[in-house]
Amino acid sequence: MHCQRHVIRLPDALGGLQCAVNSYRQSCTCTSGGVRCDGLVLVFAHCTSTHKEHWEPTLEKLFALAAATDQFAICEAWSIDCANHGDSALLNDAQLSDKEPLTVKDYAALLRYFVNSELLADRRKVIGVGHSSSTSACTLETLPLSFANLSALILVEPVMVPPPILQNDPRIVTGQRNVVRVLKRRDTWDSLDAARGWLAKQIPYKIWDPRILDIYVEYGLHTVRDAAGKEHVTYKCKLSQEVAFYTHEDHVLAGEKTAAMCGRMPVHSIFGERPEMVYVSVSYNLFHVRH
Ligand SMILES: [Zn+2]
Repeated sequence: MHCQRHVIRLPDALGGLQCAVNSYRQSCTCTSGGVRCDGLVLVFAHCTSTHKEHWEPTLEKLFALAAATDQFAICEAWSIDCANHGDSALLNDAQLSDKEPLTVKDYAALLRYFVNSELLADRRKVIGVGHSSSTSACTLETLPLSFANLSALILVEPVMVPPPILQNDPRIVTGQRNVVRVLKRRDTWDSLDAARGWLAKQIPYKIWDPRILDIYVEYGLHTVRDAAGKEHVTYKCKLSQEVAFYTHEDHVLAGEKTAAMCGRMPVHSIFGERPEMVYVSVSYNLFHVRH
């Protein structure tokens, strides 16, 4: 699998921030200047606190599956860091420091801009793939309904909050608890090894596939120097930025739009076998949205 790194700049109307994007190919050699193949173009969005590289183990598997069948072909895949996550957070460090934290709605605007950009202008089979919080971003990405350049969505552990909203709704309470929890999370270590050792003993990191934890440490952390000149390791995505992805407003809005989205394009959802993040009752609600 060949990876190419890109940086795109959002228009001023969308905040003018820079975004780190990876593109991946395995065997397709078609080019934007020549005749495009008819293979699928996958566009991946990450969940809260992770980043574009987290899709690489999944992508390796998908390329292998595609190579073993004539049922479908993957031309290329793109994976996009939200402007406050992963490498994008470093590119935008100065601009983000005096701003309100970015939200799921901001990620939706970035995804919408990307799939409608020149990079995918001549592509017909574009499939968006979201995970956890970015499933709400993918849902909002499809708005307005005149939006065109997306053929289908795959939502992994979707977290949209469709109506009705109950008093003390557990879906909203969970988000509020996550905000409190995240702001208390340790965020500095003396070294990458110390960070990995600490993370490997904590929920949820200790139940992750080791490949995912390795990627989290390699691409999600970095070394910084404080005012006294001492180096320490911390997250690329600051906790003060991360929290806004847990607040409920954008997930409720995405919940209100879920039925309309399912009415205009094929949407395939994947739920984890272990219902830690997405409760069974929530899955039921999502399966039964009406349009
Ligand atoms: Zn191709």
